Amino acid sequence: MKIRFAAALATIAFSPAAWAKSPMVATDISPVHSLVAQVMDGVSTPTLIIDPGASPHGYALRPSQAQALEKADIVFRTSDELTPWLIDSLATLSGSAQQVELMQVEGTIVLEQRTGDNFDPHTHDDHDDHSDHDDHGHEHDEHDHDHDHAYDPHGWLDPKNAIVWLDTIAAELSALDPDNATTYAANAAKSKAELNALIEEVSNALAPLHDLRFVVFHDAYQYFESRFGVTTTGAISMSDAKDPGPAHLAALRDRITEMGVTCLFTEPQFNPAMIDTIRGQRDLQVAVIDPLGATLQPGATLYSQLLRDMAQALQSCRTD
Ligand SMILES: [Zn+2]
Repeated sequence: MKIRFAAALATIAFSPAAWAKSPMVATDISPVHSLVAQVMDGVSTPTLIIDPGASPHGYALRPSQAQALEKADIVFRTSDELTPWLIDSLATLSGSAQQVELMQVEGTIVLEQRTGDNFDPHTHDDHDDHSDHDDHGHEHDEHDHDHDHAYDPHGWLDPKNAIVWLDTIAAELSALDPDNATTYAANAAKSKAELNALIEEVSNALAPLHDLRFVVFHDAYQYFESRFGVTTTGAISMSDAKDPGPAHLAALRDRITEMGVTCLFTEPQFNPAMIDTIRGQRDLQVAVIDPLGATLQPGATLYSQLLRDMAQALQSCRTD
């Protein structure tokens, strides 16, 4: 008995997977954490450094989260545009860690930030053309030199981007941890197949909703919109999730009336008092949409659940 136990220990100690220390991995938001968790399945789990319920646009790290950044061998994050407050922490805490900014990954679809009080449908068409163009290769260098047009940082809401990123995540992890490269590659391939099926599922679910007129809490959804053919009519707050001014709210109320908007989507972090200000006497359905998975359990399944829940929120607003 004693001998068998010792032999078992020796097997564990000298098996290649256990012998090689798997990398310490940190991620920014829950959807990115979910994609990395899928690729790392069977090896280890990544650390999520922004609380699921918090806005990534402005945040302060807790000591345990700062520590996770300090210990990380690699950090996967969406973009500096999404989390500008994180840039200094990354430099001081994880200076020696590998940094992967997913929106900069080759092949990522990048859309310009929408501006102004209204989302003019013609402007939206231009964005669609732009996304098709970017499909053939990303154009970040051009964007970087064009200071009039910042890009929209909410790129995880197009699952085509998630598919591109799964390969990058597997490649980066394999470079740090070659012993588990086969597992990372197999996991990424499985996740990509699942996401392709999910795109079809959500496309079918949203096909009858292309004419739905809705407004959202903040302008986070154009990646989702251009993938699935639905269109936001306006946002209470623009992309940085700052409090809207009275002029913007007045313009939005006019637009709701003009465009025959029927639904208002709030987010879990949203202050419900503002709903009445927007709604006034209008007959608007109100539902919650959760672009970050704030209400979901972080982990491998979160990403798919997030997209399914978004589709379901839109379906719940059907009026016919
Ligand atoms: Zn946002």
